[in-house]
Amino acid sequence: MLRIATLFPDLLGTYGDSGNGLVLAQRARARGINAILTPVELDDEVPDASIYLLGGGEDGPQRLACDLLAKSTFPSRVRDGAYVLAVCAGLQILGQSFSIEGDEEYEGLGAVDVVTRRGSERSVGEMSVQVGKKLLVGFENHGGVTALHAPTNPLGTIVRGRGNDGVVDGYRTANIWATYAHGPVLALNPWLADEILATVLGYELEPIESVADRLYDERCAALSSR
Ligand code: GLN
Repeated sequence: MLRIATLFPDLLGTYGDSGNGLVLAQRARARGINAILTPVELDDEVPDASIYLLGGGEDGPQRLACDLLAKSTFPSRVRDGAYVLAVCAGLQILGQSFSIEGDEEYEGLGAVDVVTRRGSERSVGEMSVQVGKKLLVGFENHGGVTALHAPTNPLGTIVRGRGNDGVVDGYRTANIWATYAHGPVLALNPWLADEILATVLGYELEPIESVADRLYDERCAALSSR
């Protein structure tokens, strides 16, 4: 049984990132695994889950989501090793602090040693990131620039676009995948959905054939022929 909890889709769903939950659930079900997808609304307690999803959001909703999560069981769950996929605002919230609207610094959940400051211009457009041997593709739209403090590792190295700082994108800890890529990122990069599922479930999955996998291959081929 796989329990997927999408946290505050009303606040952190501006860029369709709630679709990441659908992708995880469907790719699990395609392997005969029972998957339950739970949107966690503003008044809900944070439930037990196999993985939590945080999406992108505008500055105001992002701050509200951070306030609500800070008062919930979520930070201690993450510190205890709960699995999380965090995109953009979600990535910023998990850090020590973020200042995106104006220069006022806002306290994050402190689950990861990263700090986000406001950049001189917004990062908007297509992005691609080398993650090991795989290319991660997506689009970004954010004002924040994120600095990782050792020993936090990035998710990957920027090929196109900006990600955290023009050099690397996101971060990866034993239990967290974080990226600036919207898409939803798991719909555009089914290999990452499968990597997350295999890690959360604790075993390798049979490959599946899907339209998403074929489109991913076509996208990579188009990028390499540019
Ligand atoms: N509000 C944040 C920023 O502009 C995050 C944006 C997003 O989630 N796309 O940096």
